[in-house]
Amino acid sequence: MSVKTLPIHPQPLPEELLSSWMVRLALANRFSLHTFYNKVIGYNGQIWTRDVDRSCSYELIDLLHQYTKQPRKVIQSLSLSSYEGLLFESLSSNALAPWILSAGIFHRKRRNAALQYCPLCLREDSTPYFRKTWRLAFYVLCEHHNCLMESTCPSCKQPVLHHRIGIGKENTVPHMDISLCHYCGYCLKYVTPRYLYRPGCVAKHYLLKLLKHHSNGPWKCGNNLLSFGLAYFKGIWFLLSSLRSKKATVLREEINRATGLHLKASRYHTFEGADHSERLEYMLCISWILSGWPKHYLSACYKANYVRSSVAENPKKLPYWFNSIIDSQLGRKVYIRSDEEMLAACHYLYSQKQRVTRANIISELGFSSDQAIRAAKIWARL
Ligand SMILES: [Zn+2]
Ligand SMILES: [Zn+2]
Repeated sequence: MSVKTLPIHPQPLPEELLSSWMVRLALANRFSLHTFYNKVIGYNGQIWTRDVDRSCSYELIDLLHQYTKQPRKVIQSLSLSSYEGLLFESLSSNALAPWILSAGIFHRKRRNAALQYCPLCLREDSTPYFRKTWRLAFYVLCEHHNCLMESTCPSCKQPVLHHRIGIGKENTVPHMDISLCHYCGYCLKYVTPRYLYRPGCVAKHYLLKLLKHHSNGPWKCGNNLLSFGLAYFKGIWFLLSSLRSKKATVLREEINRATGLHLKASRYHTFEGADHSERLEYMLCISWILSGWPKHYLSACYKANYVRSSVAENPKKLPYWFNSIIDSQLGRKVYIRSDEEMLAACHYLYSQKQRVTRANIISELGFSSDQAIRAAKIWARL
């Protein structure tokens, strides 16, 4: 078949994901994906057994360009590598990439739900399609409809695998709507949207702003305005890694107490491989931290005795806005204790039948001289 005989070549839609456009292209021409890419446009390499949105060969981009007349640059911009310089420095085809939901491809199978969807966006589309942002791990809410992102079909519980539409039905013309579940045919447009019900949750407002402005800014941390998204997302990524680590149990408890969140020790190796409910809770935590940066974070760290070395083994890798705070405020060995903590310590001394004096506070509790004077004064006021 020559280029001229390819009857339909749909335009990529705003923010469309490469695989979504590639699937629509095949279905619009009434071919199964395998037939279309192998026989019609004659591409012999692997496509669907890899994560084509992360890594698309030059040869395939060139063939797509020849058959659709879309500029190569436009085709490249549909892939996740277009986030280079914003979410990460560069995207390799096999190593874990920050922020990209991991498909967990193993021997042709995909172990994780790596593509999310908003049922209301799909419902409003005149031609339903999947967006690039729906592959991002921090994208837990729809910025347009404020509902939770979904990642499985509610009918059969399968993940969304739009590239499997028509598999096993090679002799029939596959249906053309990409919003139908590949496994059971349920229409994902009609999934009932779920909303985040957290009355008075300030973090939710910050999170929605973060999602809305993630690509063009403003990238705000408290009153600081960052010029580059890369530094902003790098800092958030390190914050998440440290918050999810085993070392952060007490810190998580302090944050839960202060915010009403439900952070738990993670069941997943990476944030990008975690389920939606865990990612949502941690992104709300990040939003709370950034909305009151650095006060919110430092107060929780002080209460949890969380120090610089607990945050990152190599703080030099951290962006300046983050490192400057942990270096100046969490680098010390003597922690700043709140009045509440001091009082609790004095009560402990008293319960041990000890006199609550400056000398005893130093010798028995290991407080610095300044802190012991302050603690003794607080105790004396009772
Ligand atoms: Zn939506
Ligand atoms: Zn289904």
